Parts: sequence; C-alpha cells; structure tokens
Amino acid sequence: MTPFAARPEADCLIDSHCHLDAPELAADRDAAVAEAQAAGIGQLLVPAVGAGNFDDVLAMRSRYGCWIALGLHPIYLERHLDDHLALLDAALAAHAPAAVGEIGLDFYLPELDPRRQERLFVEQLKLARRHGLPVVLHVRRSVDRVLKHLREQKAEGGIAHAFNGSEQQAQALIRQGFKLGFGGAMTYDGSRRIRRLAATLPQSSLVLETDAPDIRPAFAQDAPNRPAHLARFAALLAELRGEPLPALRAALCRNTLAALALA
Ligand SMILES: [Zn+2]
Repeated sequence: MTPFAARPEADCLIDSHCHLDAPELAADRDAAVAEAQAAGIGQLLVPAVGAGNFDDVLAMRSRYGCWIALGLHPIYLERHLDDHLALLDAALAAHAPAAVGEIGLDFYLPELDPRRQERLFVEQLKLARRHGLPVVLHVRRSVDRVLKHLREQKAEGGIAHAFNGSEQQAQALIRQGFKLGFGGAMTYDGSRRIRRLAATLPQSSLVLETDAPDIRPAFAQDAPNRPAHLARFAALLAELRGEPLPALRAALCRNTLAALALA
C-alpha cells in the first residue's frame, strides 16, 4: 500500500470530498485506495462529521497520507455537544488539517433545528478564520443563508461540496472565493441544472468529488460509491464542457489546491 503524496502531481485527479473512514468502505478500504490510485487519483480529502470521528479521520491520514478536514456536520446536530466546539478548536491546533469541514446548513431535513445549526455554523466559521483555514461546506436548501454567514464572518474560501443551487447562487459563492464541488449527480441525465452548471461555469471555479460512499453514480448504483469513480466523473465533465481532458485535469488539480490554500 503506497500512501498518497502530500504534494500530488500537477495534473493528477483529486477527490475533494471522500468519506474514506465510513463503515461502508471498511471491508476493503485498502483495495478502494489502490483502485483509486490506479485510476489516476493522486490525493483525496477526508472530511470529518463530528468529534466522534476525528480519530477515524486522523487514522485515514496516518495510513493513506490523505488530506483531512475537521468539523461538525449539520446532519449530526444531535450528537454535537456544546464542548465539541472547544474540542474542535484544540484539534485544529493539534492536527493542522487542510480545512474546517464538513460544516454548513441543511434546511432539507425538517428535524434539524435551523437556529442551532446556524449557531454551530457561525462558531465554526469563526474558528476557521482564527486558524486561517478554508472551509468545506455542506449546503442543502440553504445557499442564501450560508452566503450571508460567509460574508459576515469573512470566510477565507474553500469548497461548496455537492453544489446544487442556481446559477446566481453559484456566482455568489464564486465571488465569495469558493470553488464548487461536482460529482455523482452529474452522471444522471435528469440532473439538468447541475449538468448545465458543470458545463458552463468558469473552469477555475470547479472541483471534483465523489462523496464516497454516498451519491452513487448512475453507472454504479448497486454498491457504495468509491473514490476510483472520480476518473469517470472527470471524463464526463470534459465531455460536457467540450474541453480536452488533460488540460481540464490540470485545471481541476490547481483549483483544488487553491481552494485548500495549498497552492
Ligand atoms: Zn460529506
């Protein structure tokens, strides 16, 4: 098992959002990483979802040399205790992750108290600023609220993962210094808005992601999503945009490094 290089090759594919620590990938995680590397994936970012999995995410970095983000995900709101913000603060200082994430707002699931989500989100944006880190955003039915907080807290950029908003919202995030993550949703013919945005937004605003093991692509719906699928997403994006794959790969690699302030 060869770990990922801390500084990947300039034209390699980077999976900017992969929950490699998820239990669905536990049975053959080494194989999933080897398969991704064989498909040209030179690095991946593993975001945390709560204080309870910081150790799991750190273990991924130790074993595979991947990049990590640490944060409290809005979907797991119930598990986040008040002192987890202090734990996060300490973990950011101790472990130097590439970003604070995965954080954000989810207004799709009705059981998640919006005010508590916003409080947690704002506090994490403050932590990101204090530690000089970009953020990896979960944004569902909440783009305008997320933008408001990004502006107020003067967020230093990052990635809006699995972007699924309007063209206007995309442009506002780009102006705020964010890249937009595209992945499995592009593989569905019915995802017309996402496909149109992937085809037409400025090349400099795009990054690729699998969100493995979630967001199963149209071509592999029967099993948990895997980081190796990113190679097909890149080919599809090149086709949608009518751009040569090698140049697009190099641009996506640059964009991801810039989004994570690693450029
Ligand atoms: Zn995620």
